[in-house]
Amino acid sequence: MLTVTPIPAFSNNYLWLITHSTSSCSYIVDPGDGQAVYETLKKRNLQLSGILITHRHYDHINGIDDLLKYYQQENSIIVYGPDSPYIPQITHKLYQGDQITLFDHYLFTIFETPGHTSEHICYFSKDTLKMPVLFCGDTLFSAGCGRVMDKDPEALYRSLSVLAELPDNTQVYCAHEYTLNNLHFAQAVEPKNTHIRQRIQEVQQLRQQGIPSLPSCIAIEKQTNPFMRTTQQSIYQSVADYWGTQYANACELFVDLRRWKDEF
Ligand SMILES: [Zn+2]
Repeated sequence: MLTVTPIPAFSNNYLWLITHSTSSCSYIVDPGDGQAVYETLKKRNLQLSGILITHRHYDHINGIDDLLKYYQQENSIIVYGPDSPYIPQITHKLYQGDQITLFDHYLFTIFETPGHTSEHICYFSKDTLKMPVLFCGDTLFSAGCGRVMDKDPEALYRSLSVLAELPDNTQVYCAHEYTLNNLHFAQAVEPKNTHIRQRIQEVQQLRQQGIPSLPSCIAIEKQTNPFMRTTQQSIYQSVADYWGTQYANACELFVDLRRWKDEF
């Protein structure tokens, strides 16, 4: 049985640690801070078997070198990640549809999800835990999505459309605790959406107790995340009113919704 736990880092990152109930091995997703991972593993008497990278930003990869230094002597560490010239430490480049196996048994499928950066991958597993699992880096956030850093918002639209097709109960492990801020934007876009109102209350309660708002799930995102709701008439009206323009399709609308969020 696998367990996923957050290691908080910087001001709002979560480095997701994957452990197995009968193994002393572990995997870490997006180790921006090697020291934080090292301390957690040491405290829990765990070894590191592999690193899963979603994209090139420093707060996702900065700890790779430290972790290789700490653990490489004891066993060889696999570094999975996208085909990116900016991450030379990657030992296994992954592409759309590739599959990797963790703990010799648990299969993860790769989705290429460009848009936040031009090379970005997500890791999805259908039967690893009780429910499907998605590690989505900075592509999808709860109630939001990543900023467009490489000038291709249409790519991000397509990537989120793919993630929206995943099973409703998929547990969504995003890399940042941005949920509450995102929900306030979502509410500005859809003031009448009662799911958003309810989710704000829930997340406020969690955050007051210092509990992460994550994982989210695809069903919640389809109810509350404006970037996954671009076919809704209420969202169309809101974005069209904000920019004073009309849209031919959901992708065009998405681009302007993302621009609105940038200045929110
Ligand atoms: Zn990023």
